[in-house]
Amino acid sequence: MEQAQNLDIIIFDKTGTLTHGKPSVTNVKLTEYFSQTAFSDCVKKLIILIGIAEANSDHPIALSVTKYVRKILNLDEDASLVQMNNKFKLEAGLGIACLIERSHLETLVSLVDSNTNFSTEWFCKNNISYASYIDVQAPNKPKLDDSFFQSNEFKVTIGNLRWMKNNGVELNSDLQQENERLELLGETVFHVAINGKIVCLISVSDTVKPEALLAIYSLKKFYGLEVMLLTGDNVRSAMSIGRQVGIHNIYAELLPQHKMNKIKNLQESGMRVAMVGDGINDAPALAQANLGIAIAKGTDITIESANIVITKVNIFCFINFKF
Ligand code: ADP
Ligand code: MG
Repeated sequence: MEQAQNLDIIIFDKTGTLTHGKPSVTNVKLTEYFSQTAFSDCVKKLIILIGIAEANSDHPIALSVTKYVRKILNLDEDASLVQMNNKFKLEAGLGIACLIERSHLETLVSLVDSNTNFSTEWFCKNNISYASYIDVQAPNKPKLDDSFFQSNEFKVTIGNLRWMKNNGVELNSDLQQENERLELLGETVFHVAINGKIVCLISVSDTVKPEALLAIYSLKKFYGLEVMLLTGDNVRSAMSIGRQVGIHNIYAELLPQHKMNKIKNLQESGMRVAMVGDGINDAPALAQANLGIAIAKGTDITIESANIVITKVNIFCFINFKF
């Protein structure tokens, strides 16, 4: 392990490191017209499919989405969302894709409390609404109805715009503007496509750890370290978090290998780099850094790549390090 005293720069991951990593769902924006008669049924099925897909992932976004799905549909712990199959794909920094059998969807539909009243109030309370560009009064728009949920299998693709493009899902300019509008509020936005059609976008927002601002100030002021933020999240959300914690040196929308390459470039320019991260996508960066510091909540692969593992998840502890 490198001598920590010789470090020049400390790099932080965003989600779960500077933020609590427990985002909450702030918006579910429907991007297709749904027939009025089948509206509640369609939304219920859509929400269940999203829950089943995200139950396969342990990304902080996925955990917040499954928690939200269970809560709004009154599903208890016994109602297993996980579908045992190997038709699940996860791409760090981008999103997930899976195939869900109709029988699994229907089992869960039958478990949803028949007393749940899908009233206007329920939709408002749970932050579900049409995207701002959808005009529900517009006549003769093709509408999705229950036949959309009659296929034998559903290919559910969830992730950011880049992930949608990689999966050949079509994106229109209205959708991209809605995405941008929510990102400007500092939210993390991702999209849900079913059988190749984007049916909604979801935004989540995370809160900054209260000690982060002072910890970063101290690292700069007392240790003379440069501080940088590297994240897979969108640039607008990254800037918003950066402003809150006092980091101006920000690189966003990075894949795991981009984070690692950024560190390599800094090292090639003669800098000694510490990296603090928690997600599975931080493992290559932690391994590349002169000093890799994993937040213990992180996945096993991250912990194995780190030199130091911090079990007390309070980033203020860095100011007690002998940098
Ligand atoms: P960070 O660097 O902030 O920890 P990640 O690299 O883990 O972020 O993720 C980057 C982006 O990829 C997320 O902001 C999200 O848009 C998308 N993404 C990754 N995993 C998922 C998932 N399970 N569900 C939805 N979106 C995801
Ligand atoms: Mg992370």
